[in-house]
Amino acid sequence: MSTLVIPAPQQASIPTADGNLFPVRRVYCIGRNFADHAIEMGHDPDREAPFFFQKNPDNLDPSGEFPYPTKSANVHHEVELLIALHSGGTSIAVEDALTHVWGYGVALDMTRRDLQGEAKKTGRPWEIGKAVERSGPIGPVHAVAQVGHPAEGRITVSVNGEVRQDGDLNQMIWKVPEMISYLSEYFELQAGDVILGGTPAGVGAVVKGDTMVASIDGLGEITVNVI
Ligand code: MN
Repeated sequence: MSTLVIPAPQQASIPTADGNLFPVRRVYCIGRNFADHAIEMGHDPDREAPFFFQKNPDNLDPSGEFPYPTKSANVHHEVELLIALHSGGTSIAVEDALTHVWGYGVALDMTRRDLQGEAKKTGRPWEIGKAVERSGPIGPVHAVAQVGHPAEGRITVSVNGEVRQDGDLNQMIWKVPEMISYLSEYFELQAGDVILGGTPAGVGAVVKGDTMVASIDGLGEITVNVI
């Protein structure tokens, strides 16, 4: 019988609102899912096909601290709805998609905007801008049994008390069932997969010492210090 030749890496997980842990397998993030944010990033907000990139499972971090990343002088906040799946599959129909959701939470998709911009310009992958250590500050995942399937509600982030992003989940171009269905056409979704649902307008830079407060109606708020 074969054995592991090095100790197994720790299973990435995120806390649940009832004090347990949700194990994370993959993290899919949608780009430009709010029209006003697409416009501010210089794109046509018309309903183009969605696109996704990935963060790493262990980038998700409930600690309330975000270490300012190396090699960047322009790190942005993006407040997002976190969607956690308890099951998956391929070619999932839009009308069946919500049956795969375990719960929802508040997340930040922290981004090295300068390096992401370079990657866009040169046609390179986005990981260097997006899949950054501890770049996914998150709050607890709330079970569907407690919070239902939020399709509307205020989504905000403030920095040092000043509101920077202030949108509504009902502005999402691609809704949660559509994102799940679309992803499942290209990937096999499985239990433990997490989706970040995109960000409204108002993304902006943070610096060390800033305090971010991100909130979504019904899912609470998270306070994250940039260290
Ligand atoms: Mn994002």
